[in-house]
Amino acid sequence: MLHRIDKTTVRNALQQAYECTRETNSGKNADYIPYLAKVPSELFGISACLPDGEVITVGDTDCAFGIESVSKVPTALLVMEQYGPQKVMNRIGADATGLPFNSIIAILLEKDHPSTPLVNAGAISACSMVKPVGDAEGKWKAIVDFIEGLAGSEVTLIDELYRSESATNFNNRSITWLLRNYNRIYDDPEMSLDLYTRQCSLGITARQLSILGATIAFGGRNPVTRKQIFRTELTPKIVSLMATVGFYEHTGDWLYTTGLPAKSGVGGGIVGVIPGVMGIASFAPPLDASGNSVKAQLALKFVMDRLNLNIFNPDRCITAVPESVA
Ligand code: GLN
Repeated sequence: MLHRIDKTTVRNALQQAYECTRETNSGKNADYIPYLAKVPSELFGISACLPDGEVITVGDTDCAFGIESVSKVPTALLVMEQYGPQKVMNRIGADATGLPFNSIIAILLEKDHPSTPLVNAGAISACSMVKPVGDAEGKWKAIVDFIEGLAGSEVTLIDELYRSESATNFNNRSITWLLRNYNRIYDDPEMSLDLYTRQCSLGITARQLSILGATIAFGGRNPVTRKQIFRTELTPKIVSLMATVGFYEHTGDWLYTTGLPAKSGVGGGIVGVIPGVMGIASFAPPLDASGNSVKAQLALKFVMDRLNLNIFNPDRCITAVPESVA
């Protein structure tokens, strides 16, 4: 039996999640990318986007931060849209690695397969697949346009982050060339790596991320702009990838505790998708040892519990869907 919740209940839950979590000071900003180490650690916001396009926010939800690994979600969707989901599964895969996001061993263990577009290897491979193949600027435009379609507004490159990341991405370069050795890079390797690095350096806000999550939750239709951004049948595909590998080696723990398919990034952002119900996002820079935001995890878990939204619970709550969407 599903129960309906109203907007006031959602608003109150976000506010309480914010208040209960804001004093938490464990975790540490990512420091292997110099720019990220300098972002103010106290920034914190939570945002939820509902079926009618209303966005409920609390805290620092209009401050742009590095999207980082959350960018793997839109690019995976883009190549699914361009090639169909089966081809993406054949070329990249849809399996959890159970290993850190930048694991080289995962590639060797999978006997050459990048495993999933939601870890670095698969994401670089996905960037190489983006059409128009061979055209770096055309591919970049396709990636940015797609993210903007999902988020419903403009996103801009954080130049300093891009420079910082380009100067230090030796591990990702090794991944790229190892994949090239296995014929899993489908365009120029250095260009594919650069596109991946650039997409990770895009600035996005928690508000935009929640709209991006909602567009996925509502079958590719952005509830704010009302534009159809991708084919509806891709929602279960991308949500299944988020559920299996969105938190890397701790994805099982996360799903078991919250029942929220979500994707994190080392910039401190997390986007969650509750199909048919809402997109939800949180941002706070300090991370745990696996590279997932400590506060954002606590805040999202609080909201999931308080509103009884666990997608595996037969007695869960849903939001009221306006007739124009239903
Ligand atoms: N750009 C980062 C990297 O490739 C993204 C990692 C992440 O957010 N988990 O290392």
